[in-house]
Amino acid sequence: MRDGDKILKAWREECAVFGTWGDQEAGRMTYLGLYAQQHRGQEATGIVNLQADGKHWVHKGFGLVGDVYQEEHLEKMQGTAAIGHVRYSTTGENQLTNIQPLTANLNTGNVALAHNGNIVNAHLLKKKLKLEGAIFQGTNDTECLLHMLARHPSQDPIVCLKDTLPQLEGAFSMVMLTEKRLIACRDPWGFRPLVLGRRLQDDGSQAVVIASETCAFDLIGARYEREIEPGEIFWVDAQGEHSERFAKVNNPTAFCVFEHVYFSRPDSLVFGESVYEARKKMGSKLATEYPIEADVVIPVPDSGVPAAIGYSVQSGIPFELGIIRNHYIGRTFIQPSQSIRSFGVKIKLNPQAAVLKGKRVVVIDDSLVRGTTSQKIIRLVRQAGAKEVHFRIASPPTTGPCYYGVDTPRREQLIASMKSVEEIRIFIDADTLAYLSVEGMMEAVGGNKTGYCAACFNGEYPTSLF
Ligand code: AMP
Repeated sequence: MRDGDKILKAWREECAVFGTWGDQEAGRMTYLGLYAQQHRGQEATGIVNLQADGKHWVHKGFGLVGDVYQEEHLEKMQGTAAIGHVRYSTTGENQLTNIQPLTANLNTGNVALAHNGNIVNAHLLKKKLKLEGAIFQGTNDTECLLHMLARHPSQDPIVCLKDTLPQLEGAFSMVMLTEKRLIACRDPWGFRPLVLGRRLQDDGSQAVVIASETCAFDLIGARYEREIEPGEIFWVDAQGEHSERFAKVNNPTAFCVFEHVYFSRPDSLVFGESVYEARKKMGSKLATEYPIEADVVIPVPDSGVPAAIGYSVQSGIPFELGIIRNHYIGRTFIQPSQSIRSFGVKIKLNPQAAVLKGKRVVVIDDSLVRGTTSQKIIRLVRQAGAKEVHFRIASPPTTGPCYYGVDTPRREQLIASMKSVEEIRIFIDADTLAYLSVEGMMEAVGGNKTGYCAACFNGEYPTSLF
């Protein structure tokens, strides 16, 4: 087991952050900003609101944004600055103490911290801090930063951060709220997105807003301005806006390509590129790289839709919705008797015989991870009468786990790390199977190979520790 595997086991997380400063409805805007980013984490959420007396008002809970906050909570968020977080963790570590924003009362005053990403040297930092007497409340990597800030002799949180952030390795796109500032910072590699925008107030002033994805700005009527740069600390306080660097500007970046492949919402701009357009291009490149004679192109909904449109346009094969998704699946459902086979996937995805019967079908999905979903989908598509099923994946074979904040299974569970494409084709029972090349994917995201992290596809991990 490598270091990264240990970390992944303990702290597997996907998250979104949001922050605002100078907004008359800071609490409600944070609630909406998290609502728009719910796809990045569904397990728990928290909001910290900075009250006029400098105190932090906190509400956290397990569940979806729409369920955790009630009107009574939003009414209490009277202060004009707030930060929030949504979190997803697949391990048993879903303790209340892990729900972010994490809060602490330091020598410098109250501080709240919300983090998206994964600090890969957290286990080493934590060990050192524990030996020095630090008492950890939760099992997440983010808490290390709070302890490091607490130990710093300076009274100025920005000085503390500038000294401390370079000691962290890995992915961190963060928002922090002190008693006097909203702070945003992003690791020097820029793994996870973090964007800055403005929301016009009734008095003509502009609130500062920070989010993981621009779709949060769209919902609250904020204007996207720019990304928080990799290696930047940005903060806003009563004196105005400030920006400094804690890492050199010319560091090679490692923008997560999987944000474009699967993770981000298609209506977001991520790393300055439209996710929807990137996915469409992935589909059209896939059609160029792996054409096939067929009657219909269908997406696996919803994640395969933009790529399937791209494949259809490029190939000239008609696009149809051959599988319909039920959007109202809760976390649990009562299992039927053994007699109903393939129930698990069928409750969510239902193939339409009217589209599929007697047809040569190209099925497009964004990624193939374990292969079990694809296997079930192909079985259903065949049962609905498809004559041939050609599976096309709009990303390369997923061969390595992510250590930087995307939830991926362990290496042994990634089918492409254990089997060849032909063996996978046999396993999922497709007539043909093809994946987009790494080059094709990189062209689609408008980047070059050095600007993005594609470690889950090419094994090139950008940090020395992972
Ligand atoms: P499988 O190959 O059975 O693991 O499932 C692949 C499906 O999972 C694809 O439809 C993807 O859209 C989706 N997927 C890919 N990565 C993730 C992830 N990190 N979390 C949840 N779903 C994912």
